[in-house]
Amino acid sequence: KLSQRLTQVGEFVPQDAILLDVGSDHAYLPIHLVKTGRINKAIAGEVVKGPYESAVANVQSAGLQDQISVRLANGLAAFEPTTDGVNTITIAGMGGHLIAEILEDGRDKLCQVSTMILQPNNGERHLRTWLQAHDFTISDEKILAENDKIYEIIVAHPGQSVDILTEAELCFGPFLLQEKSTVFLEKWASELAANQEILSKIPASAQQKQAEFSAKIAKIKEVLNVS
Ligand code: SAM
Repeated sequence: KLSQRLTQVGEFVPQDAILLDVGSDHAYLPIHLVKTGRINKAIAGEVVKGPYESAVANVQSAGLQDQISVRLANGLAAFEPTTDGVNTITIAGMGGHLIAEILEDGRDKLCQVSTMILQPNNGERHLRTWLQAHDFTISDEKILAENDKIYEIIVAHPGQSVDILTEAELCFGPFLLQEKSTVFLEKWASELAANQEILSKIPASAQQKQAEFSAKIAKIKEVLNVS
């Protein structure tokens, strides 16, 4: 059964999208989306040989090789904008810095892409900052807990947003901050505790580090409404 995390990523894929799943690993996501009738055509891109081979095997045993093309490629090199018609990209289960790097490296290929669904395991602030700096608008977000881990999903479309994201929105997520779900509060309570633990171990002589963590803590406390 597909993880809740990947199921949620798939929920944001538009009906009949032509999908590129970057770092597809086992290709579970495109297989699930084709099987459920959400999409009819996808590319599963993988840069590492082992996962690539497992994707090929899984697509073959699902009998979906006509719909899902598995390609050994680095990031967005997995597709040709003129011939593949990719309009939706998913990148899940990697760090936000790596996701931003993949998008940056393939920036010139993004002009026909109307939806990107990104699920960074960390570095969300960095990724939102990249999106904003490159004129992508965040149109939705989701936070969920599974197997004692908390995951964030960011949906972005090309086009500059009318509202520039504030520092708090970049850090916490504009939609997540608005919603303040139980999972969100749980995540930031735990981040608060972790940062307080770090602060308590910073020597008094390292004033700049102390100030940096105190500021972080204050920012989280403000969002959690605690003093
Ligand atoms: N997307 C799947 C998921 O969310 O369950 C798999 C996540 S797995 C942790 C990350 C995958 O991304 C690995 O299989 C890795 O080889 C692949 N990967 C990392 N960097 C990549 C890149 N630049 N291009 C394509 N794949 C990459």
